[in-house]
Amino acid sequence: MEQLSTRIKALAPSATIAMNQKSQELKAKGVDVINLSVGEPDFPTPVHIREAAKKAIDGNFSHYAPVPGYPDLREAIAMKFRRENNLDYKPSQIVVSTGAKHALANAMICLVDNGDEVIIPAPYWVSYVEQVKIAGGENVILETSVEDDYKLKPEQLRAAITPRTKVLLLCSPSNPTGSVYTGEELRALAEVIAENERVFVIADEIYEHINFSGGHQSIARFESIHDRVVVINGVSKAYAMTGWRIGYLAGPEWLAKACSKLQGQMTSGATSIAQRAALAALTEDQSCVKEMADAFLRRRNLILDHLKEIEGIRYNVPGGAFYVFPDFSHYIGRSVNGKKIENDMDLCLYLLEDAHIATVPGSAFGAEGCVRISYANSDDNLNKAMQRLKDALAGLK
Ligand code: PMP
Ligand code: GLU
Repeated sequence: MEQLSTRIKALAPSATIAMNQKSQELKAKGVDVINLSVGEPDFPTPVHIREAAKKAIDGNFSHYAPVPGYPDLREAIAMKFRRENNLDYKPSQIVVSTGAKHALANAMICLVDNGDEVIIPAPYWVSYVEQVKIAGGENVILETSVEDDYKLKPEQLRAAITPRTKVLLLCSPSNPTGSVYTGEELRALAEVIAENERVFVIADEIYEHINFSGGHQSIARFESIHDRVVVINGVSKAYAMTGWRIGYLAGPEWLAKACSKLQGQMTSGATSIAQRAALAALTEDQSCVKEMADAFLRRRNLILDHLKEIEGIRYNVPGGAFYVFPDFSHYIGRSVNGKKIENDMDLCLYLLEDAHIATVPGSAFGAEGCVRISYANSDDNLNKAMQRLKDALAGLK
């Protein structure tokens, strides 16, 4: 008999990972699936970063790394914050973890007590709400609209804050909508946070460098709330290093210490070799970051050209990240081969099984009727996939 804890029974599996797995299974059976489900750069990790990892192996970086990360890596991260974000963090305020996902989980568990409320604007990335559950918190989901470019408004935030509110989770550039908050929009949200002394901000900035709408802005730069912001970032997206599993957080020293304590009981320091690779990524030639971001911009435009031709869908023009998130509600309720498409999950399964394109249903991101399409794929594959999408939608009656 299964004897799982209520905590784990309440947890939903990651939909992004599930759709990626389904896509890979079909591919292994020889089906020509185009995978637009999981969000990861399709580029290989740049050569100089791979070389640094090889050197680390030969240099015998094979022992436990310090729990919060090697001192020189944390120094390099502090320099990155100074260089790119005009933010001043000491290495003691930084913790390196096993991916940004782990950094987020550390912050969540260290900040949120049983019954604390965490405000999350929807559409949201799938893992936020599940991590809140693990921490024992309660999700307070605030709907945003396509007309507002899926951005949270300050008055909406103010109205949602209660004495139990502990955290606002903000992701910019956003997964899944690609929305990017401007400095002024962040300032207005920061003013609301400043009025509420108990509230923290977890700022997920993992897509910082994939931004087509001007420079990245961090909510941590507002002095009035700086001590109540924890910034999450990592090397996965900017340097095409998803498999290396290096992320980090920066925030008040007491929080960094707590995250390090937690990590010391859960995983210890992140992989030593990957940390040396991350050090090279952050300190050596940065031109690879721009080259990849330029390719993502070209692909975004390519996808938008295709979307224009699809009748009845609604979407925002993403200012960053590598996703489009159209609302396909127009097609829900239609049928194909005697089978009715009841919801976005049915639509994604139809797209996977009949059109052989893997996407992720919007309901996993708190937005029913939408579908997330990752354009972190080759131009050829994207053109092919979008044609398949158009044909599949035309087949729904
Ligand atoms: N935050 C967001 C919004 C993401 O899309 C991802 C990608 N999985 C992560 C965090 C986690 O990144 P990592 O792969 O470094 O754990
Ligand atoms: N961030 C990616 C995504 O949203 C990776 C998969 C995951 O970790 O959820 O698809």
